[in-house]
Amino acid sequence: MPTINKNFLKLQSNYLFSDIAKKVAAYKEENPSADIISLGIGDVTRPLIPACIEAMHKAVDEMANADTFRGYPPEQGYDFLLEAIVKNDYLDRGVELDKSEVFVSDGAKCDCGNIGDIFGTDNVVAVCDPVYPVYVDTNVMAGRAGEFNGGKWSKIVYMPSTKENGFFPDFPKEHADMIYLCFPNNPSGQGATRQQLQKWVDFALRENSVILYDSAYEAYITDGDMPHTIYEIEGAKKCCIEFRSFSKTAGFTGTRCAYCVIPKELTVEGTSLNSLWARRQATKFNGVSYITQRGAEAIYTEQGKKEIKELIAYYQANAKVIYEGLKEAGFKVSGAVNSPYIWLEVPQGMTSWDFFDVLLRQANVVGTPGSGFGPAGEGYFRLTAFGSAERTKQAVERIVKVFKS
Ligand code: PLP
Repeated sequence: MPTINKNFLKLQSNYLFSDIAKKVAAYKEENPSADIISLGIGDVTRPLIPACIEAMHKAVDEMANADTFRGYPPEQGYDFLLEAIVKNDYLDRGVELDKSEVFVSDGAKCDCGNIGDIFGTDNVVAVCDPVYPVYVDTNVMAGRAGEFNGGKWSKIVYMPSTKENGFFPDFPKEHADMIYLCFPNNPSGQGATRQQLQKWVDFALRENSVILYDSAYEAYITDGDMPHTIYEIEGAKKCCIEFRSFSKTAGFTGTRCAYCVIPKELTVEGTSLNSLWARRQATKFNGVSYITQRGAEAIYTEQGKKEIKELIAYYQANAKVIYEGLKEAGFKVSGAVNSPYIWLEVPQGMTSWDFFDVLLRQANVVGTPGSGFGPAGEGYFRLTAFGSAERTKQAVERIVKVFKS
């Protein structure tokens, strides 16, 4: 008789964003004329930049001709994209990587989830709290999480990131083998300084841990001295895997392209994680389409870089509007500076979901309750800068109107 992976049955049945969608749908049914603005889900709204579009059109034409047609792509990525990544994202920041240390993929979400394949199921996992839910749920599926009691998984080590520690986690008291870090952070919007990251890398080396460093929001870093890659930190190549994505950098959420870096120096039990991951990808992944990779490559051209800068500046301007508007309305706000996320403390006496309801009903604005990202997110709320400038401004005006009094 076949059996199932029972770990799937342990997963919390309701996913945060479907809960939100249900609440919004119910409200709309009661109030069909309500003009709802969503600053909730972290999806972008601006179109792909012209440099990418042009490159992708050209690639489509190549696919239409037998002489230039391409079949299966190399699982690890085409050389033209790997070389552009190595040069622009690393060498230009003083980090030397070989292109065999970079793996192009169809998303950082998939990479963050799939990476668990190459680690033993008995590894102890540590996550920040609140956290991007993918790190936790994929470890539940793999059997590393234990049981869910009182809002927490028994075998997962939680590292609270609250206002008391400046939304930057302290080292866990227990030993953890796999430590997920994400900076600039989703959901808090907090960036990480060089000194903070150096302490984490030193800790991981001392503890013999692997840091899984999610840098999906790297493009939003504005602080001059903030590292743009974990490999700017001494020792990181020996203990860190880095995940990067074109989703929020270049509007690729629907186009799908990302990459992860596993340096050759990174070994566990004497085995190279790079070669394990190469083997895993060669077996389970068939590469990203030629058209998409040509689009991603165009981000690194002079024209592409200029257009990306403008795109990010658009969202950063939205972040500033939200941040300043909420401050004016008396909220305690953080994030926004190195991130498209704004993290706010909900008014005293309210839970994150209470605030969600008030915002939906009184301002017709949708955001994300902090408690959906983990127990330490209770009392907080996330807004995103990915809407249109006009709607973002409108949403903020409504929030200010409701709460300023
Ligand atoms: N990592 C973090 C922290 C995210 O917030 C997201 C998307 O919201 C992702 C990864 C997913 O990236 P991708 O679109 O490349 O799968």
